Amino acid sequence: MKRVACLFVLLLILAVVVIGSFYGYVRTQRDNGAVSSALLAGFTSLSPHPITYGEETSEPSCRQAYHYLKGHTGVCLIEDSGSSRFSPKENTVYLPHADFSADTAASAHEFGHALDWFLRGESPQYYSRQETFSHAYAADCSRMQETFLVQRLFETEAYRNPAVSDILFAVFYGNEEMTRVLTASYNTAGVSYWQHEESYMRELHNRQTEVFADIFTIWLSDDAEAKAFLQTFLPQSSRTLLEQVQTQRW
Ligand SMILES: [Zn+2]
Repeated sequence: MKRVACLFVLLLILAVVVIGSFYGYVRTQRDNGAVSSALLAGFTSLSPHPITYGEETSEPSCRQAYHYLKGHTGVCLIEDSGSSRFSPKENTVYLPHADFSADTAASAHEFGHALDWFLRGESPQYYSRQETFSHAYAADCSRMQETFLVQRLFETEAYRNPAVSDILFAVFYGNEEMTRVLTASYNTAGVSYWQHEESYMRELHNRQTEVFADIFTIWLSDDAEAKAFLQTFLPQSSRTLLEQVQTQRW
């Protein structure tokens, strides 16, 4: 009887470890500090559809902006990819060396925040929190909330792009059913995704700021399906960001 009890306890511990590891693999929520990020650096290399950032196939003005920002933003190399972030106070990106040197999605996303800060002009607020982008984002959100279908997204490859998942969890923040369906769909597909911490996303301006960085991440990529997703579901926000980037001399 004692042996059976021991075996049961061992199996229970094993189940907790396995489920915990799986949960940790597919879902990373974090965010603290000024503008934090939900990053899963490292897992993207497992994708059967590797995505490049900042290469020839990225949007030219975004590529120019990215290279400019990499040379004009402070960089602090860190060990823990979970602590990647952009600090506007220091105008500094915190990234693991691997992300900074290999131009990963995490790097593109953090420099997206640096871009947002750069574009603020005289305002003390990120560009993404100012009127122009706020209006564009609100319009895109209300249309997307009526027309978006999860199953359609999973018929394409766009869902594999971590920035796409981050956008979805932001746009459908507060819609518990959609959040559940999205989470279940990613878990079923066994594909890692980005999602910010609930308490951080409660603020609309944080959601706008994260979506801005995600849009930049996608424009900077070679991911044609994710770009098509932007043009279908976030046309105004994407255009607003692009117009701003294109009017600068990088
Ligand atoms: Zn972020």
